[in-house]
Amino acid sequence: MVAREFLVRHEDSTFAVDYDTDDGFEVFQFQLFSLTSIPPDEQKIVGEDDDRIVSDNSDLAAVSEKIRLVSIASEKEKEPEKQEETTSSGGAGAGNFHAGSSVMSDEELARMLQAEEEALLLQHYAAGQNSGLFEEKIRPYISQVLMYEDPVRKEAARKTVPVDNLEEKALVSLAKEGNLKPSKIEQDHAFLLQLLFWFKRSFSWVNAPPCDGCGNETTGQGMGSALASEIQYGASRVELYRCNSCSRVTRFPRYNDPLKLVETRKGRCGEWANCFTLYCRAFGYESRLVLDFTDHVWTECYSEVLGRWMHLDPCEAIYDQPLLYEKGWDKKLNYVIAIAKDGVHDVTKRYTRKWHEVLSRRTIITESSLVSVLTSMTRECRRNYTSEILSVLEERDKIERETIERDLHSTDDASILLPGRQSGDNQWRIARSEYGTDSLSLSSCPVRICRDEHVTRIYNAFGAILRKFVEDSLIVSKGVEVLKILRTTIVDLKKLPYKKRRASLKSNSIVGTSLVHHLLPSFSELLNALSLKSELDTNGSVSVCLAGDPVQTALALPVALHALDELISDLSKCDNFSKDSLSFPLLRLNRICSGAVHASGEELPFGIATAAFDGTRMSKWEEPNGARGSWIMYKLSANMQELVAYELMSANDAPERDPMDWVVEGSNDRGSSWRVLDKQTSQVFNKRFQRKTYKIRPTGFSSNVFRFRFLAVRGIQSTSRLQVGSIDLYARES
Ligand SMILES: [Zn+2]
Repeated sequence: MVAREFLVRHEDSTFAVDYDTDDGFEVFQFQLFSLTSIPPDEQKIVGEDDDRIVSDNSDLAAVSEKIRLVSIASEKEKEPEKQEETTSSGGAGAGNFHAGSSVMSDEELARMLQAEEEALLLQHYAAGQNSGLFEEKIRPYISQVLMYEDPVRKEAARKTVPVDNLEEKALVSLAKEGNLKPSKIEQDHAFLLQLLFWFKRSFSWVNAPPCDGCGNETTGQGMGSALASEIQYGASRVELYRCNSCSRVTRFPRYNDPLKLVETRKGRCGEWANCFTLYCRAFGYESRLVLDFTDHVWTECYSEVLGRWMHLDPCEAIYDQPLLYEKGWDKKLNYVIAIAKDGVHDVTKRYTRKWHEVLSRRTIITESSLVSVLTSMTRECRRNYTSEILSVLEERDKIERETIERDLHSTDDASILLPGRQSGDNQWRIARSEYGTDSLSLSSCPVRICRDEHVTRIYNAFGAILRKFVEDSLIVSKGVEVLKILRTTIVDLKKLPYKKRRASLKSNSIVGTSLVHHLLPSFSELLNALSLKSELDTNGSVSVCLAGDPVQTALALPVALHALDELISDLSKCDNFSKDSLSFPLLRLNRICSGAVHASGEELPFGIATAAFDGTRMSKWEEPNGARGSWIMYKLSANMQELVAYELMSANDAPERDPMDWVVEGSNDRGSSWRVLDKQTSQVFNKRFQRKTYKIRPTGFSSNVFRFRFLAVRGIQSTSRLQVGSIDLYARES
């Protein structure tokens, strides 16, 4: 063993790297990767004294301790980045535009203002002075949004929503973010997002409707005349479709009345947004129907948590991403008008970063006429309001105008924070600053605290049950039977409203029943972990019911269910179940929990980094740019731990995004220096939700931060993403 210290210079930094030559050159490359973020295959290592290229251990032995590291890809990458910035800011080849800059240069701003002026001039020639056309387009929507205020329509909408279930999901999502005592406005915000996700699942999209008679495909036949029963619900337009099989004609009335849509639950974006906005109003959210003149409709709701209006697209189940259309869909927007019961607003600027281009397409009406039309329509909507309410609304309008103007000239999209990213911001920021200063700590993700104590408690609780099995010399099949009874009970509990969970521990056989009674004391640790307790019923059977915060139970039940599934499957495969079987991985004891998680990236809301540690397979960490290198760190909340094993589970879909090569590192100085603990290459997950177990050769090295660096995914050619279903870390027993 030869230990050497190298001084590695990279850009403006110099790192001291301790290296044991027995570890192999690859390990050295991984160490450099840890420090600089340059993947091994893009590293050019050069001896500082003689410019000698270092490509293996013997080269390394020949150079002095001074080394320079260059990224082969850095120049290639910089080019397109610069182009993209220039295009998005609308300028033609501005040479002084710095990549990553969030403030526009003076030259850039001047050019944009010039373009705006030209567009306005053009508008004066092209736009008619007659504001009637514009008003004609907007006016029907004012009567439409007033329908959302009708108590009958609101009640009809509310009745179709599984309120309990959405409330549970909202509270669980907050609990996962560490918010166990959310305020009313935080709950309202979380519920609105669940309402959006539910709506997306419950409503269906119609291109050509299936045949009413035989269900086969149809072909459009143009428009028909509306029947009285259709006109009653605002369907003056009726599309006709002829069946390709039986020739029957199917009608597709385009209903405007959201009351009818609550029943039919289908349509195109107009119907979706119309109906969803009614749902938002039915649950008391300040809501607007947003009309994009280039043929799309969505919703905006006022979020008290964010203190501003939030974009919600029910067709996509996407929220708070106003640049979705211009940047994502490459839409050429012109007018985006928000219509609410208390006013009509031009919100176009919220949805664009290319205002001068948008302006050149606004030729229906001049800007000044537009303002006066909207002002007069708004005044009309508010004519019966008290002066008190009027002043609140006017203040809100003013703040909205100011915010929109400010965001318009920002080129930094990261300034538009998604709601999930903001909770506990300060706490995370403090935690994040403790991560040390190496370049990898830089990411757009906040540091999040993992609320996963229940996962560890559930895994440990199975220890008590299995030890009792061994103590009573229970054979495997009996043990499996008992676990299946527990599983059935958990499934029953999960189906019930989260505030009223109670189910009996029942068995089909008399032997099973007496076994459950006998083993009941060994279940208590598991029940505790689920915030449940057992009770003896008057008829002698045992019931399980809530013992504490129902949200804790809601959070833990899916974890227990998945863990039981795995345990049942693992135990069934045990040939000789005995004391010796009570070890990892049948028993997954000492799982590390309650750490702070930080990742190179995450996809919100469903690919949040903490989802890797939440113990349920249905959630995952998804890194949108992680295919060729990404990282996730787990910082311990308490004492240092020696990592003895870890497990990775593949996610629900997209095998090409599975990790294939990775390095696991530990740090005993909160991330200033790292030590390689394990390295894997060419790993393949053959199934979805497949758990792979890795034991680590004992090193005696205790860490307070662990880091996974994923170097490549399985389908690196076909995806930019990486995803992991779950990560579990296990510490040496203390
Ligand atoms: Zn048919």
